[in-house]
Amino acid sequence: MRAMVLNAVREPLVLRDVPKPKPGRGQVLVRVKACAVCRTDLHILDGELPNPKLPLIPGHQIVGRVEQVVENGNGFSIGDRVGIPWLGWTDGDCAYCRSNRENLCDRGQFTGYIIDGGYAEFAVADARYCFPLPDDYEDAEVAPLLCAGMLGYRSYRKTGDAKRLGIYGFGNAAHLITQVALYEKKEVYAFTRPGDKSGQESARKLGAIWAGGSDQTPPAKLDAAIIFAPVGALVPAALKNLAKGGVVVCGGIHMSDIPSFPYVDLWQEREITSVANLTRLDGEEFLEIAPRVPLKIKVETFSLEEANAALEKFREGELAGNAVLKVSSS
Ligand SMILES: [Zn+2]
Ligand SMILES: [Zn+2]
Repeated sequence: MRAMVLNAVREPLVLRDVPKPKPGRGQVLVRVKACAVCRTDLHILDGELPNPKLPLIPGHQIVGRVEQVVENGNGFSIGDRVGIPWLGWTDGDCAYCRSNRENLCDRGQFTGYIIDGGYAEFAVADARYCFPLPDDYEDAEVAPLLCAGMLGYRSYRKTGDAKRLGIYGFGNAAHLITQVALYEKKEVYAFTRPGDKSGQESARKLGAIWAGGSDQTPPAKLDAAIIFAPVGALVPAALKNLAKGGVVVCGGIHMSDIPSFPYVDLWQEREITSVANLTRLDGEEFLEIAPRVPLKIKVETFSLEEANAALEKFREGELAGNAVLKVSSS
């Protein structure tokens, strides 16, 4: 079995033969068909997230077929298509798990970070955290729904019934969540890098009522803003554009420092919050809504061996859609 392996942070992944993993109790062994690339993979590679498992096989948006089930596949059988997301394991027992906040579990383990992930021909997962996937999508298409989609959806749900929704950082998650927001009759205001005319154009094409640079002021006050770009300076910028009682949701796992800002910008019950990980319920809800929208997912595919190139294109913002590794397994 071959996998792209991270030996040390800030080093490129290397293709290695690794022993075929043995599934344990209640786990599934999955033959990987596709694994989408996420900004979080870059954060891990760059050493911006603490204590990754090393050596590590990255990748937490895995689509594959169940090859082997041990004891209890949690309803999955051999041959089933399965999605493996970022949330890989929780203890089910801490104060967070017992209050429906398993995304905050004290001992939570994450795919492609603490558990080996999907930049590989095979992956092992705890079946309780895997999702059946809607038939409407190809393997490569559905892969980005497992993080860009699900984490984006959790961010979106945190905006409640906000009518005017600002989205900062118009990448993969924004593309997906804009479609859900429009389906739910929201107005989307898209903020791109200043001067990114083509990004603004594509946001308008998707249905955004307004698109501009993150240095611009939208024509109306926003009820909520989601920040997908890992740029702390966008937090006070978004706050300034909020109506009273509005919320800024930081949707990323890592962000540069947030500059200070006057209290008056937060006053009038404005809020700043963040989104961490996902619960299984988020995933189930999102996979149910996706084909109803129906979500259109743009992908640019790479082979497993091209993982480093896919990551670099992601870093440079040169992708035409979600980067997905298509893994050809023999
Ligand atoms: Zn827990
Ligand atoms: Zn991710």
